[in-house]
Amino acid sequence: MDIAAPHPVKQLSGNYLLSVAVFSVLYYLFAKFGLWIAPFVHGSVSAIWPASGLAIAVLVLFGKRYWPGILLGAFGASFDMVPDPIAMIFGVGDSLAALSALWLLNHTGAFRPRLDRVSAVVKFTILAAPLSALISALIGTAGLMYGDLLPVNKWFSALTVWWFGDMMGSLVVAPALMVCYANRMRRPSRASLIEMLVLLTVMVLVIGATHNPWLGTVSFDPQFMLLFPFVVWAALRLGLVGTAITVLAGSALAVALVLGEAKLNGVLVPYVVVANLQILLAIMSVPGLLIAAALTEHKYAENKFEKLARFDGLTGLSNRAALLDELEAAVAYAERRGTEVALLFMDLDRFKNINDTLGHAMGDKLLQEFALRIRNNVRQEDFVARLGGDEFTVLLNGGSATQSAAAVAQKILDSMRLPVMLQGHEYVVSGSIGIAVFNGAVSSKMKTGDHPSSTQELMRQADTAMYRAKRQGSGFMYFNINMDSNSKLQLRLENSLRRALESQEFELYYQAKVGAASGRIVGCEALIRWRHPTHGLIKPDKFIEVIESIGLMIPVGAWVLREACRQMQHWQQQGLPLQRVAVNLSMRQFLQADLLAVVDEALADSQLDASYLELEITESVAMSNARQTIETMNALKQRGVHISIDDFGTGYSSLSYLTRFPIDAVKIDRSFIHDLSSSSDAAAIVTATIRLAHAMNLSVVAEGVETEQQRDFLLKYGCDVLQGYLYSRPIPPDEYAVLMRVGSL
Ligand code: C2E
Ligand code: MG
Ligand code: MG
Repeated sequence: MDIAAPHPVKQLSGNYLLSVAVFSVLYYLFAKFGLWIAPFVHGSVSAIWPASGLAIAVLVLFGKRYWPGILLGAFGASFDMVPDPIAMIFGVGDSLAALSALWLLNHTGAFRPRLDRVSAVVKFTILAAPLSALISALIGTAGLMYGDLLPVNKWFSALTVWWFGDMMGSLVVAPALMVCYANRMRRPSRASLIEMLVLLTVMVLVIGATHNPWLGTVSFDPQFMLLFPFVVWAALRLGLVGTAITVLAGSALAVALVLGEAKLNGVLVPYVVVANLQILLAIMSVPGLLIAAALTEHKYAENKFEKLARFDGLTGLSNRAALLDELEAAVAYAERRGTEVALLFMDLDRFKNINDTLGHAMGDKLLQEFALRIRNNVRQEDFVARLGGDEFTVLLNGGSATQSAAAVAQKILDSMRLPVMLQGHEYVVSGSIGIAVFNGAVSSKMKTGDHPSSTQELMRQADTAMYRAKRQGSGFMYFNINMDSNSKLQLRLENSLRRALESQEFELYYQAKVGAASGRIVGCEALIRWRHPTHGLIKPDKFIEVIESIGLMIPVGAWVLREACRQMQHWQQQGLPLQRVAVNLSMRQFLQADLLAVVDEALADSQLDASYLELEITESVAMSNARQTIETMNALKQRGVHISIDDFGTGYSSLSYLTRFPIDAVKIDRSFIHDLSSSSDAAAIVTATIRLAHAMNLSVVAEGVETEQQRDFLLKYGCDVLQGYLYSRPIPPDEYAVLMRVGSL
C-alpha cells in the first residue's frame, strides 16, 4: 500500500512536534540507561545502546520525518558529559545511523517490519544493523577525538565497543518493537500466551539458578549459552512476536546479571566480558529471528498452496476438493437439523466441439463467462464449484432446497442460453443440469433406493441425472432410482465397447444402392454392426453415440474406413463388378485433424482407387463449422473421393449453403420417405429437394425405401438412386457378394 507523503504544513503540526518530543524523551531514557549500565571511555560511550534499536524501529514504523527526536535525545543524553559541539556530533551520528538503516532497508526491495520473511531478517540483521551501527561509531569516535577526549591508541577499542553496543541495541530492541507493533491487531491465543509466560519464567529461573555471581563479573559466563534453547523454543512455537520478546527478555536478563549486578556492587566489569556479552546477545537474536521467519514463510507458502489446492485457477470458483468438504459439512448439518441439501450438476452441451473448433483459449473464455453467469444466478450463500472441464456444481442448503433447486436450475439454464461473443461472433450454448437431493429428515434406515446415503452417492446421482437430462435434451432433471439401473447398464455397455475393437467384435454389413431407372446395383453403404459375445448382433443406433461419448469414435471410424476399402478391393480382385462403397463419418471423425491422413492410409493400404470411396456426412455435422467443412471436403475431392450429405432435411441448413459445399449427392432422410404417403408436407419436401439438387448438379439418393408406392413416387420425380428394405437390408459381405454377382434387384 502506498501512503501519501505528509503535507508540509502538517509536518510541523502540533501532533508531529509532540510525537518528536515524546520520541526524544524516550531516546534520552534508553540512552541514559545504556550509559548508566555500561559506561566506557569516561562515561560518554556505552557498551549497551538500546536507543539505536528504538531509533530504527521508530523510523521504520512511522517514517523518517521523526529523525529530529534522535538528534534531540542523543544530544540531551550526553551534553552534560561532553562539550556541546561533541554532544551535537553524537546526535548527528546517531540520526545518520538510523536514517542510513532505513535507507538500506528500503532500497533493497520493500522491507517488512513484521520480519516474517527470511529476506527481511537477513536484510535487517546482516546489512542494516551492522552498517548503521558502524556509521554512528565512526562519527561518534571521530567527535571524541576531535574534542581530544579519546587518545588515538584507544580509538580502535572505543570504536568496536560503540559499534557492537549499537549493533546489539538494534538487533535486540528494534525487532521486538517492530514485530510487536506490526502484529498489534492480532491477538495471541490464550494457549500461546500461557506458553510464553511459562517459557519466560523457566528462563529466568534456569539462568538465575545457574548464575555464578563471581564468575559473571570477571569473565564470560558460559551459563548464558542456556539462553539459546529458550530462543529456539520460542522461534519454533511462538512465532516472531514470541521470539523477539524472548530475545529481548533474555538479553535484559543477561545484562542485568552481568552489568547490573556489578554496577550495584560497584565492581568494574572488564572489557572482554562486555565484548563477549555483546557478541552473545547479537548472535542469540539472529538465528532466533531467522528460524521464526523461515517457519512463518513456510506457513504462508502452505496457506497459499492450500488456497491453490481449493480453488479453480481458471474461473476462481471452488474446486472439487473444496466441494467435497463443503458437501460433507452440508450433509452432516442437514442430518442434524432435518433439512435438505440439493446438489446441481451441470455441464455445457457440446462444449468439446467448441474447444476443438475454436481452440482452447476461446473454450476457457466461455467457461469463465459461464462461471460468472452461474455465480450471478445463485445466492451468496450457495456454493458454486467447477469440477473440471465444463462441469460445474451448485450446492443449495436450507429447508426447501428441493423446491428451490428447480427454480435455480431454470434460472441458470436461461442465463446460459444468452449468446456469448467469441472472436466477434455470437455463440449460443445450452447446458444440462442434474439434481440430487439429500433429505436430513429421512431416517438413515430408509436411506436406500432413491435416497443417497453418502456424499459420493449424492454426487453420483446428480451426475447420472445430468447425463439423463443431456440425453433427453430436457434442460434439468431430478434423479430417480430408475436412472440407476439404466446407468449400470450403460456402464457395462461402455466397458464392453472398450474391448470390442481389440476383440474384433465389429463387422461391416453392406446395403445395396440401386439405380432408380435401371434397377441395377450401383454401389453400397457400409454399416457397422457389433457382434456381442452374449447379446448377439447389435445395431449402431444402440452404441454409436456411446462410442462417441467415450472417445472411441476415431479408432473405430478408422477401422470402418480401412475395412470397407479392403473389402471393396478384395471384391474387385475377385472380378466382381466395380462399384462404390459409402462410409459414414461421425461429427468427431469429420472434424478430427488427421482425417485426410486416415483416409489416405485406408486407400493406400487397400490399394483401392479413391473414386470407389464415398463419404457420407450428416447434414448437422457439415453445418457446424462451414469453413472447415469446405476445406476438408475440397481436399477429399482432390483425391477423387465422393462426398454426400446424409440424412438431408433433418438439419437446419439452407439449400443455398449447400451450393458452397463441393459435394456429389444428397441423401434424403428416411423419415421423409416414410411419410410420403401420409404427409403432403413430406412429399413437397422430397420433390423440392430433388428439383433443387438437380439444379445444382447433385445426384439424389432416397434412403429407407420400403414400399413400391414410395419407389414409384421417387421414380416419378426423378430421384436417381434408391436404398431401402424394398431392395435389400444391410447384409454380411458374403451375402452381398452374391447380390453383386446378380447385379440387379
Ligand atoms: P444412416 O447412415 O442414415 O444409415 C442408414 C440407416 O437406415 C441404416 O441403419 C440402415 O439399416 C437403415 N435403413 C436402410 N434401409 C431402410 C429401410 O428401408 N427402412 C428403415 N427403417 N431403415 C432402413 P443402421 O445400420 O442401424 O445405421 C444407423 C446409423 O448409424 C446410420 O444411419 C449411420 O448414421 C450410423 N452408422 C452406421 N454405421 C456407421 C459407421 O460405420 N460409422 C459411423 N460414424 N456411423 C455409422
Ligand atoms: Mg449413411
Ligand atoms: Mg441416413
